[in-house]
Amino acid sequence: MYDVVIVGAGTAGMTAGLYAARASMNAVVLEKIFPGGQIARAHIVENYPGFPDGVTGIELSMKMKEHAENQGAVIKTEDVIGFELEGDIKKIITKDKTYETCSVVLAMGANYRALGLPREEEMVGSGVSYCATCDGAFFKQRDVAVIGGGDTALEDAVYLSKFASKVYVVHRRDEFRAQKALVAAAKKCERIEFVLDSVVESIGGKFAVEGLLIKNKKTNEISELKVSGMFVAVGIIPETQDVRDMVVTDDFGYIVTDQGMATSVKGVYAAGDIALKPLRQVVTAAADGATAIYSIQNYLMEQM
Ligand code: NAP
Repeated sequence: MYDVVIVGAGTAGMTAGLYAARASMNAVVLEKIFPGGQIARAHIVENYPGFPDGVTGIELSMKMKEHAENQGAVIKTEDVIGFELEGDIKKIITKDKTYETCSVVLAMGANYRALGLPREEEMVGSGVSYCATCDGAFFKQRDVAVIGGGDTALEDAVYLSKFASKVYVVHRRDEFRAQKALVAAAKKCERIEFVLDSVVESIGGKFAVEGLLIKNKKTNEISELKVSGMFVAVGIIPETQDVRDMVVTDDFGYIVTDQGMATSVKGVYAAGDIALKPLRQVVTAAADGATAIYSIQNYLMEQM
């Protein structure tokens, strides 16, 4: 019987694991692929305190894992396939076993959102990518497009400009959701060109991406961008499909919590990008993980 099972080893889950270990709780962090979550896909993180020169996403993930494990956290590779969250004893079911626990932290994070264009899915690996860090180096001296106007899109554009000969940022509005510092950094790059008020209509190329048809939303004009890569960065979708019927979420699937990260189900907490909140960053994910464990300590004491 565990005090807490933490599902997901992104920033929130690893921080929860660290805090649980330091509170001498009987805890385990379950991760289906590899620790780090979204942050492992970030090329450079420049807004997490303590790293004045920035830190790569992979390095930060590995340091978080090492830190949590050095403090006694147990992180296991397990694919969670079922949740039983009602009642005092909760069950987390994985492919290999069932974990019984007094409390749960849902920290499964979020995944990329696709554009939903025809042939988008079949072109993944042939020019369509959702991860600039993973695939950017394949596009040396080639022209690429980044779709989106948020932090990810602007960061991706700057990163890709190190490899690609030209990076078009195709955004559906003429204002950016991204932080001003990222927009300014992208505007400074000579290789980046903005294609604003525009959306991708279709992907051209038989076996691999050879171009994109772009529609200007204001003029309805259609033009072609000759690119061999399309990096989609149009936001994220919370990984709540398995728990959506069990805890209260908003219309987009983000889990509603109180200030202590408690969900609508007693003993069940949510932390990180999966939770409904105004700011989704590494620093807020870490804070959520710590807060959830603090709340769980109080919850377990009340249960005694
Ligand atoms: P985001 O902030 O939700 O931005 C998504 C962008 O894609 C928006 O510009 C949006 O346009 C556009 N978009 C959405 N659906 C679209 C569609 N169907 N077609 C065309 N464009 C579409 O997503 P994100 O950039 O992935 O960031 C996710 C979260 O992680 C955010 O909270 C962000 O702050 C955080 N993050 C932080 C950092 C950092 O701090 N360094 C880095 C990366 C991500 P509109 O603006 O018109 O809605």
